[in-house]
Amino acid sequence: MPLVTTRQLLDEAAKGGYGVGAFNVNDMEQIQAIMEAAKETSSPVIIQASRGARKFAQDNYLYHLMLAAAELYPEIPLAMHLDHGNGFDTCVSAIKLGFTSVMMDGSLKEDGKTPTTFEENVEVTKKVCDYAHERGISVEGEIGVLGGIEDGHGAGGSGLDHVTDPDQAVEFAERTGVDSLAIAIGTSHGAYKFTKKPDGSVLKMDLLIAIHKRLPNTHLVMHGSSSVPKDLQDIINQYGGKLKETWGVPVEEIQLGIKNGVRKINVDTDNRLAITGAIRKVFAESPEKFDPRDYLTPARAAMQKVVAQRMTQFGQAGHAGDYKAVSIPEMAKGYANGSLSTQPLVATK
Ligand SMILES: [Zn+2]
Repeated sequence: MPLVTTRQLLDEAAKGGYGVGAFNVNDMEQIQAIMEAAKETSSPVIIQASRGARKFAQDNYLYHLMLAAAELYPEIPLAMHLDHGNGFDTCVSAIKLGFTSVMMDGSLKEDGKTPTTFEENVEVTKKVCDYAHERGISVEGEIGVLGGIEDGHGAGGSGLDHVTDPDQAVEFAERTGVDSLAIAIGTSHGAYKFTKKPDGSVLKMDLLIAIHKRLPNTHLVMHGSSSVPKDLQDIINQYGGKLKETWGVPVEEIQLGIKNGVRKINVDTDNRLAITGAIRKVFAESPEKFDPRDYLTPARAAMQKVVAQRMTQFGQAGHAGDYKAVSIPEMAKGYANGSLSTQPLVATK
């Protein structure tokens, strides 16, 4: 299938009542792991690259690897998404390269660290939406600021410092025309999200539900949503790693989110843990080995296992064949003639 947009994927997910995992990649093996998991579970999927990934891999490598994935798996709806674009120019460069979806994270200034004002966020996000929609490309915005830092991006601090205000979420969706909306409900990027199993005092699912009630048709996005499972932490530490004890977002909380408007769930850390654990195991058990395939093959298989598990848990499994790709020019027409609405349905309080 040609690359599709996240708007189409998420509209379909809303119809089917499921969520779609968005998995970060930096290299060929990670893309292969995701595509094999999608094939195994018959799942539509979003593959995303951050600015850090684009720098690590170079744009052209990433783009052509994604095209290879689309060619090799014609039965899988696949979107290529820019994670945490830090400004208009970054989003434009991704769109020109061939990304079918971008995130404009206007919650932070272009340095990727300093929180912006609400007005600054609206202004830059609307500018990206106007540019992208004219070209049929989808846009994710962010209101509220996540905790932690990943790939040099983030305000740092706790996920509770700048949680999303529901009234601002409504105004933001109305004024920008975003296709999906990332909200801050206490989660953080990276492995160290919570110091114990999170409860309602640190993971604000009630806030997510309140936002969904006000914006019942808006596709919500959960960032920092790796579950950081103990068994993956244990494998790393068993083979010489030194991870501190940590908790992620429990899968059952994500599933509660999916029942309440969450359509895109970002997962990166769990895959990093799976890869590193598998590589450490080979190094520890077979120190005589030196062919990279000897450790990259089990690393890729370990990531595939985690991704397939998440696809099943998020409910996207079994939905790859539900629909045909809508082309990018058709999407552009839809925005122009209003059949693809950019105005949210708003419920009164
Ligand atoms: Zn994020």
